[in-house]
Amino acid sequence: MDKIEHIGIAVKNLEASNQLFAKLLGVPPYKMEEVASEGVRTSFFESGPNKVELLEATSADSPIAKFLEKRGEGIHHIAFAVEDIVSELARLKKEGFQLLNEIPKKGADNKLVAFLHPKGTNGVLVELCQEIKAKEGR
Ligand code: ZN
Repeated sequence: MDKIEHIGIAVKNLEASNQLFAKLLGVPPYKMEEVASEGVRTSFFESGPNKVELLEATSADSPIAKFLEKRGEGIHHIAFAVEDIVSELARLKKEGFQLLNEIPKKGADNKLVAFLHPKGTNGVLVELCQEIKAKEGR
């Protein structure tokens, strides 16, 4: 695994939290994106070499809605950058980690992502993400 790519924070109201984090970090979000398959709207901030992702639920059965219901607003996941998500998932599976996604899926911010079950990682939801590189010759 590589560096921490971003920290994901679950919020109730993305607009309000965008303003709050813009004040906190001194920069506006560089991107906002809806991931319909996950039932979330996200925004991304840069803070030096690191990123913060804010996540708001767009439906009542979204994982973020469930998280907010159970735990309230706060840190939702930590994402690590990986070079090769498929081989990293295979390695972690072999090590006994429980994968929430056996097959990486397309996440926000042009990434292939997969999650590990927080039960096996001291209660921390861990995301792996691999940058999707633009294919040449398209
Ligand atoms: Zn994330």
